[in-house]
Amino acid sequence: MAVIAGVDIGNSTTEVCLAKITGKGSIEFLAASIEKTTGIKGTTENIPGVVLALTAALNKANMKITDIDVIRINEATPVIGDLAMETITETIITESTMIGHNPSTPGGIGIGRGVTTLITELSEKKPEEPVICIIPEGFDYEDAANIINEQTRRGLKIQGAVVKRDDAVLIANRLTEKIPIIDEVDSIEKVPMGMQAAVEVAPQGKTITTLSNPYGIATIFDLSPEETKMVVPVARALIGNRSAVVIKTPLGDVKEKKIPVGSIVLQGERLNETINIEDGSEAIMDAVARVTPLVNVYGEPGTNVGGMLERVRSVMSTLTSQNLSEMKIQDILAVDTLVPQRVKGGLAGEFSAEGAVALAAMVKTNRLPMEELARRLTVELGIKTVIAGVEAGMALLGALTTPGTTKPLTLLDIGGGSSDAAIINADGKISSIHLAGAGDMVTMLINSSLGLDNLNLSEEIKKFPLGKVESLFHIRLEDQTVRFFEEPLAPEFFARVVIIRGEDDFVPIPGNHTLDKIRNLRRSAKEKVFLKNTIRALKQISPTGNLRHIEYVVLVGGSALDFEIPEIISDGLADYGIVCGQGNIRGTEGPRNAVATGLVLSAADEKW
Ligand code: ADP
Ligand code: MG
Repeated sequence: MAVIAGVDIGNSTTEVCLAKITGKGSIEFLAASIEKTTGIKGTTENIPGVVLALTAALNKANMKITDIDVIRINEATPVIGDLAMETITETIITESTMIGHNPSTPGGIGIGRGVTTLITELSEKKPEEPVICIIPEGFDYEDAANIINEQTRRGLKIQGAVVKRDDAVLIANRLTEKIPIIDEVDSIEKVPMGMQAAVEVAPQGKTITTLSNPYGIATIFDLSPEETKMVVPVARALIGNRSAVVIKTPLGDVKEKKIPVGSIVLQGERLNETINIEDGSEAIMDAVARVTPLVNVYGEPGTNVGGMLERVRSVMSTLTSQNLSEMKIQDILAVDTLVPQRVKGGLAGEFSAEGAVALAAMVKTNRLPMEELARRLTVELGIKTVIAGVEAGMALLGALTTPGTTKPLTLLDIGGGSSDAAIINADGKISSIHLAGAGDMVTMLINSSLGLDNLNLSEEIKKFPLGKVESLFHIRLEDQTVRFFEEPLAPEFFARVVIIRGEDDFVPIPGNHTLDKIRNLRRSAKEKVFLKNTIRALKQISPTGNLRHIEYVVLVGGSALDFEIPEIISDGLADYGIVCGQGNIRGTEGPRNAVATGLVLSAADEKW
């Protein structure tokens, strides 16, 4: 008899399967546990997490650490896929125009164009020249309205107004002739006087149509095709706004700044290819497919992507105490996304959605750090620790304990950092593959595209459905059903989009993103990462390279717990006639514990 602990150290979680082997192939499962991985997978930093997970399993089984005869850890090397993500974006800031923003309560309706003029100087303007009135700090709304009315009576064509304070509605209500008014312009002192400007306010519930369209801006300011190209980021930043102001400043007021995105060199076993990040994720992934198997990936020095890939390599080299030159990037996943970029020259910190390519990279190191980890565990715990089997193979053994499964079987282990696929044929022959990009990349995409700068919140957005608090007594869930409450909800939830973590557990999402927008971003991030990697992985492990020769796919790993992933992957694979479902390890663990269980099972088959 021997007590075995299978320990799966993942990028995110460390899982244990504790079992008693009583004879060849005869196993009694005792307990399972899961803890957060400490440090980067495959390094000695993992030890505290391993100890915690072992202790948790032992407690459940009422055992002590000295009861364990052998610890079997997964061969987490040679692949470490983690942390290696960064959004690479080209920041083009080129306006010769300044841009206005989206106050919550603009006044008036319509579009007006004129020369920016301080309210105190309106009386000096000739009636034939249309003006946009600028109302600085310290001006009372009544006084402002009186002056505008008086000047209008004199025949001055006041086409719109821009106010520092939150007074637009108050002023608009007092005017004899209605004009569009924008308020809450923080940096009103930055508004240059004597420049052509346009102010647009849409009716309530509508969005502006002229200033959010580059040709609309071109029409108003009579721009050349060259100039029109420059205002594209301005127009893009204003899409979906109810109001906006655009000021045409002399060329050169705001300098153009470009951070080159750069290109990457994909070094394959058979051929090399250079590809520009600007060509987008599809072109990059096509190139990756052409040169696979990859030996290494380099970024162009001095560029955005060059810096990122070097950082990945140097982090990994420090953590594994190996030479920088030995750090080889063996896979990348590129995904197109949009990230909010602060618009240079903005009046109140406006953002424009810029196209970006997010990259997940996976570094290949050698077995040394893993062996060091096993050695340290043996010494510190006094228990023999061995590195047993390739992760995907172990996961496959574990997945086969799902009731109703049989060989041949294809497995997809979608974790935090990497997506692993493995296939076992009827004769038990296994082939497997590790790919960069999984749950953590989805979290990163949600974080960057919503401009949240909060990974914990992004993780929750990923994991749970959304709702809109329409009143303090009801929430409309994202599937359009409505939940009513007897007691009023806390006022801070009012009119907010919230994450529905549980029955009565809601987390408000900051910012003004609509429920539909957040939902669409969430789902598209999952499709881009999980579906793309699934198809990529299955193509590579299918014996014929054709997805149609795969019949069943079992999903395991933390991301298989996702409330919409099984559906997204099933839908994506239905076209190929593939049936896919969540694994249920040992009939009890759901999609968790596959690798740890496989580590125990493989021991039972060996001489023990
Ligand atoms: P690893 O093997 O890399 O340690 P895991 O198999 O533990 O990874 O999976 C971790 C990933 O699973 C993380 O990205 C985490 O966000 C995701 N995850 C865990 N639980 C859920 C859930 N309920 N819904 C969606 N994703 C989840
Ligand atoms: Mg895993």
